[in-house]
Amino acid sequence: MQLTGACLCNAIAYEFSCTGNEVADYCHCRQCQKSSGAPILPWVQVPPQNFRITRGHAKPYASSTHSTRWFCPDCGTPLYMTDHANRSVGITLGTLDTPNAVHPTVHGWASERLTWFQITDDLPRYPQAPPYDL
Ligand SMILES: [Zn+2]
Ligand SMILES: [Zn+2]
Repeated sequence: MQLTGACLCNAIAYEFSCTGNEVADYCHCRQCQKSSGAPILPWVQVPPQNFRITRGHAKPYASSTHSTRWFCPDCGTPLYMTDHANRSVGITLGTLDTPNAVHPTVHGWASERLTWFQITDDLPRYPQAPPYDL
């Protein structure tokens, strides 16, 4: 399926294709908490060639030595993340135009979960990055 998304102010839009078998995770890591201001940030990982920006220019922030987070410089929305090895693009599920189209299937970085945020589902939990992660 072909999915689209945009930031809060709509200056930046993207599209990507996915099969429905991609890994989608709730990330509990400290960096996602900081960049979103929320206890978790849900992502879907797709091959870089399946993703493209269709409007505007996101601003990069090198959040680690091997990954870059891209956000809207006007409204601050975290949109996607790339890795230096160009393995995959992570897209924030909350920015999809159809945000119910992809469901998270795992919890990543559960070791950094905020104590007041309770996980009540039975999805697999990884203390650090899920196997696919950046
Ligand atoms: Zn924006
Ligand atoms: Zn994270």
